Amino acid sequence: MSQRPVGRLILLPILSMATIPMLVSAHVDPTKFTPSAFVEKPAVVECNLEDGSSAQCYKFTVAYQPEGLEIGPFCPSNIDEKGGIWDWDGEKAGLYRLDRDFFEMLADQGYRFYDKDGRIVISDPGSGQPPEADHTCLMATPDKDVTITMLLPIEPRMAEKALSLGTVAKVGVALDGVPIFADAPSVLDTGHLPALDVCGGHIDPGGWYHWHATSTDIATVEKTEGVAVNCALAQDATAAFGFAFDGFPMFGSLEADGSKPEGLDKCHGHMGETRLGKTYHYHASTEFPNLPTCLSGVVAENNFSTTSSTGIGSQGNARRGPGQGMPPGFEEAAQILGVSTEDLMNALKGNGQRPNIAAAAEKLGVTEKALRSALPQPPQHAR
Ligand SMILES: [Zn+2]
Ligand SMILES: [Zn+2]
Repeated sequence: MSQRPVGRLILLPILSMATIPMLVSAHVDPTKFTPSAFVEKPAVVECNLEDGSSAQCYKFTVAYQPEGLEIGPFCPSNIDEKGGIWDWDGEKAGLYRLDRDFFEMLADQGYRFYDKDGRIVISDPGSGQPPEADHTCLMATPDKDVTITMLLPIEPRMAEKALSLGTVAKVGVALDGVPIFADAPSVLDTGHLPALDVCGGHIDPGGWYHWHATSTDIATVEKTEGVAVNCALAQDATAAFGFAFDGFPMFGSLEADGSKPEGLDKCHGHMGETRLGKTYHYHASTEFPNLPTCLSGVVAENNFSTTSSTGIGSQGNARRGPGQGMPPGFEEAAQILGVSTEDLMNALKGNGQRPNIAAAAEKLGVTEKALRSALPQPPQHAR
């Protein structure tokens, strides 16, 4: 093709007519990612979307954490040290530094995470052992061998109804290759505190690191919430952070020109010009977690798997596959509740068309409230 301006002038009207869908949605573009983000070259594969259509997806495979990314600290070892951060949703809700003031405030509310010597009680949710106390600070161990495979539709499509993102729902993938998840499980539901570092990430029980926030714009949030910490990642409220699992890009809390985004929908997205062209896109909010609250586009089925034997998307869970009795979201629910997926399924089975949540909660030894909040919401498009 000619590189001369005259050639472009002739081609432009033809191209723009032939590519009208592209004007409303930028493609997922592997070249926008950090070159070292992938452990395998991104591949184009056929995929099924959750609305029943088929599409082409990018298959991204990433390591347990990006090379050179400094993570932590998470749980402080004693009450006089400072750890990461936590978004407390009980009384005096807000984002806090994990320090003495915070742990004493929680103790006043009946959640005591330290012993008489001020040592924080820490447990590893990937160890297979139950936590040694009712309230422990959770800190999983990295597993360098784990890889994660994600599928994102190349050409995003708007869904008829937005997909709501509950606890630990899959949100997307950051440009550094790190998976992004919605809220980590609440202390109010599990009694335990899965500490985040000051950039908003932590290690899954499966041994891999992931974000629970827009980490390249988390300084904005920490300022809004009055938490004096310093994420070492370069902060840029106008930068692209990653792509959501529906294929639409996610940006910081400001537009490319530094202005505040206008006309955001309930998912915190809108149509407009971006550094990736004119497209529907999401913006980070200025409060924690600064992530989209729902996805406006259609996501691919089975879009997240890991080589780990435990944790979200693990082999043990993936092997069941669709149609083998594991409704979507149940592996995550089991994870939150700290029970096996088998136990969860068995507890909910055999008490009629609609599961008796109270009876199931009793069988599992969890509260009814914890069970209700952990279970996946019915699919939006079925309503
Ligand atoms: Zn997490
Ligand atoms: Zn915008």
